[in-house]
Amino acid sequence: MSSQKPHVKLFIPGPTEVAPEVFEAMSKPMIGHRQKVYSDLQKQIKEKLKAVLFAPNHMMFLSASSATGLMEGFLRNCTAKRNLSCICGAFSLRWHEIAIGNGKEADALNVEWGQPYDTNAIDKALATGKYDTITTVYNETSTGVKNDLEALSKVIKKYPDVIWGVDAVSGMMGAKIETEKLGIDFLVASVQKCFALPPGLAIAAISNRAMERAKSIPTRGYYFDFIDYAKYDAKDQTPATPAISLLNGLNFQLDRFIKDGLENRFRKYDEMAEYVRNWAEKFFALYPPRHASSQTVTCIKNTRNLNVSDLNKKLAERNLHISNGYGDLKEKTFRIAHMGELTLADIKEVLSVVEEIWQLNKNGNEKCCSACGGH
Ligand SMILES: *Cc1c(COP(=O)(O)O)cnc(C)c1O
Repeated sequence: MSSQKPHVKLFIPGPTEVAPEVFEAMSKPMIGHRQKVYSDLQKQIKEKLKAVLFAPNHMMFLSASSATGLMEGFLRNCTAKRNLSCICGAFSLRWHEIAIGNGKEADALNVEWGQPYDTNAIDKALATGKYDTITTVYNETSTGVKNDLEALSKVIKKYPDVIWGVDAVSGMMGAKIETEKLGIDFLVASVQKCFALPPGLAIAAISNRAMERAKSIPTRGYYFDFIDYAKYDAKDQTPATPAISLLNGLNFQLDRFIKDGLENRFRKYDEMAEYVRNWAEKFFALYPPRHASSQTVTCIKNTRNLNVSDLNKKLAERNLHISNGYGDLKEKTFRIAHMGELTLADIKEVLSVVEEIWQLNKNGNEKCCSACGGH
């Protein structure tokens, strides 16, 4: 059998740690995806997802892809006129690139990276009447920003012809999202983040309004044709072969989440986030404003100009791995994810090892000044 070498524990924003009992739940024998036993599985998952996403009237799509695939599907199925792409970092930029790559008319509305959205600017843009979809990110994983869904909801609800897509890839199950009440038409995530499953499966909650829009669009693509999905969903099936093992894992996780209590789960992420934020402010600085800092990933400004790649090499010797900054933010920032199966004890461990490797406590606890970067 496999040797029991300690594995490298991941503190990155996906893929996240997978619990042994989840792997076990995924190792059930295969079933045919046109058999009733499969439909029973999909039906159970759908009902549980409706409960945890607070969306009793949304359709639940389960896609054998990562979330990026369903994001493309949303733009193809719901944009007839023009998309407003709200950008605050690399992942919300991706949604704009998908629109352009699919030949959709789209405008980018940018804020400075590290900042949350400017809802007044969004209101002004939507008031032009040019747009029939708006794409936003909940947790911008590249900058550690959490956008305020309530504030967005208030603005977007003023424009009933605009279909609202939310990339909640790193936020779904990291905090309570009242999907239906907020008026979110399309809420999407991959399972390798807060669901703590291996990658390869994406989940989307889709409103009836979004489905009505899809009916009016003739070229919806093929793999992510929402109308086709709905047709099969009525039989608790998917058009193409589903990721059956991952669905077994998802069903297991949903049972666990519900049994343990969602509020307890969300509180755990808040506690971990608070701990990391305090640590970041003690030794460095937060990249986003504290009030807009994500509950599942903290992005820390590397105010001491320490070498993050070298840190990760040293962490590897201790079987730990954190995340460098994303893209242009590499070395300027680094990120600690606190999602999925991780606990406050794990977070305390990794941060104390970082303190030790970087000798953060050597010259007292305080940064000596912001100008010298702590040297
Ligand atoms: C990870 C992530 C994605 C990409 O997800 P895939 O599973 O690679 O498709 C998109 N958006 C956000 C906010 C993410 O964190």
